[in-house]
Amino acid sequence: MSKKIAVFPGSFCPFTKGHESIVLRALPLFDEIIISVGLNSEKNNYFSIDERVQWIKDVFADQKKISVLKYEGLTIEHCAKVKAKYILRGLRNSHDFKFEKGISQMNLSMDSTIETIFLITEPKYSHISSTIVRDIIKNGGDASQFLPKEINI
Ligand code: ADP
Repeated sequence: MSKKIAVFPGSFCPFTKGHESIVLRALPLFDEIIISVGLNSEKNNYFSIDERVQWIKDVFADQKKISVLKYEGLTIEHCAKVKAKYILRGLRNSHDFKFEKGISQMNLSMDSTIETIFLITEPKYSHISSTIVRDIIKNGGDASQFLPKEINI
């Protein structure tokens, strides 16, 4: 049987406890999870792509089933390249749902062999967003409670 490989795509600017929780909960469902940091809107990203990739590698250093890659272009093309049949996404609220619904349906129209799998966030993390974490850091605040313990910004 072929390996069940999932791509978890995002900008992860930065990777938060919310993202970490989604990956850890999805781990029993897949043989491999490839956390894929998108290069697309690099100009809007506060942290460099290499910094973001390294932080995520630090978080999952002990997890053999998890790897971290950067990618550019369409997520479904990246999935095809790494032989992933699943896209993993997290849902915090109805706003996420509306946004994700459109993307997943368009991805499915473009490649019906790739399914998007959604996990609803743990309630204790549903308020965490990279945007707000970034604002705290930009303004010199302490965002450590929202970040995995391996990420010290
Ligand atoms: P993108 O720029 O593609 O939206 P993000 O880095 O913001 O990427 O998020 C990647 C994925 O993680 C998305 O599916 C997003 O909904 C999900 N996510 C973000 N924050 C949380 C959280 N606190 N709990 C659960 N899922 C989350």
